[in-house]
Amino acid sequence: MKKYNFNAGPAVLPQAAIENAAKAVLDFDGMGLSLLTISHRSKEFEAVMDETVALFKELLAIPEGYRVLFLGGGASSQFYMVPFNLLEKKAGYVNTGVWAKKAMKEAKFFGEAVEVASSEDRNNTYIPKGFAVPKDLDYLHITTNNTIFGTEYHTDIDCPVPLVADMSSDILSRPVDVSKYALIYGGAQKNLAPAGVTFVIVKEDMLGKMSRPIPTMIDYRTHIKEGSMFNTPPVFPIYVMRETLRWIKSLGGVQKMYEINKAKARLLYEEIDRNPLFVGTAVKEDRSLMNICFVPAPGRENLYDEFFAFAKERGMVGIKGHRLVGGFRASTYNALPIEDVQALVTCMQDFEKKVNG
Ligand SMILES: *Cc1c(COP(=O)(O)O)cnc(C)c1O
Repeated sequence: MKKYNFNAGPAVLPQAAIENAAKAVLDFDGMGLSLLTISHRSKEFEAVMDETVALFKELLAIPEGYRVLFLGGGASSQFYMVPFNLLEKKAGYVNTGVWAKKAMKEAKFFGEAVEVASSEDRNNTYIPKGFAVPKDLDYLHITTNNTIFGTEYHTDIDCPVPLVADMSSDILSRPVDVSKYALIYGGAQKNLAPAGVTFVIVKEDMLGKMSRPIPTMIDYRTHIKEGSMFNTPPVFPIYVMRETLRWIKSLGGVQKMYEINKAKARLLYEEIDRNPLFVGTAVKEDRSLMNICFVPAPGRENLYDEFFAFAKERGMVGIKGHRLVGGFRASTYNALPIEDVQALVTCMQDFEKKVNG
């Protein structure tokens, strides 16, 4: 049976990327060796690394003065690596949910971490706006897409202090004005690659200002100097990421992705708003294009198990909502085709017919 992959992460990837990776696992670049067994210092892999960095820069239109790094450790390691390298005295965090809070917790090991705004009062169903940013912050940290709660910043905010963003779950889903950020990071397993590689885009002149000593592996300058090859990089996920980036480019780039993502999200949100059995959880203006959260309508909570089973029978995978939100979450990352969103919409419509007889 055809499966529709709405997993939140690790998540759907372009079929072409998966097929090319499968071939490379068997024979990489005609070397007669598996991609899994070659040296990261081989010229063949160095070419992959160089192309992946170049594609990242091209697709996001990354300006001069920024460096792109591919590291291990996941976005969660960036929660401490960022303050290690950038927090001298005080940093600000916008609390938009679980990941933002985890990031803030790590910053407290290095200095003062203040919550400048929070959406916790309404279970993180919105993005705080119009708050004052203290001028004495070393940086302000935001989470541009809140994977669990289904909220997203739809613009690159103006910020009077250096802006740091966790873009784990919306990187390359929309155009970003990188010049507004000091640092952008994320795990690749939501929208780009299998788990194992973490991207960091850093403005180089932000670095080298800390009074504390920084261990070699934690210091971004190490990885800049060595082209992300100070130690063994995650070879396989980087390869798959290159394939994903090639796929994005072949479709017309990030602007095109954005248009498709908007169309996909519109299709599903329209059904959520129309269908009397379901309601969306995030406020409309902050609804995520990547993680679409909805719950049974008030009084219809008993339908949860029934819809879950109904959807499962039709091949819907990964639509269980996070326990902090409940209900359902459909992740609609770049590689998810609009036809799959349509299949979920049809499933919701058929379920409504079944329930209403
Ligand atoms: C998944 C996720 C993380 C955690 O990523 P890891 O790579 O597992 O550490 C952090 N931030 C956001 C926004 C996420 O979606």
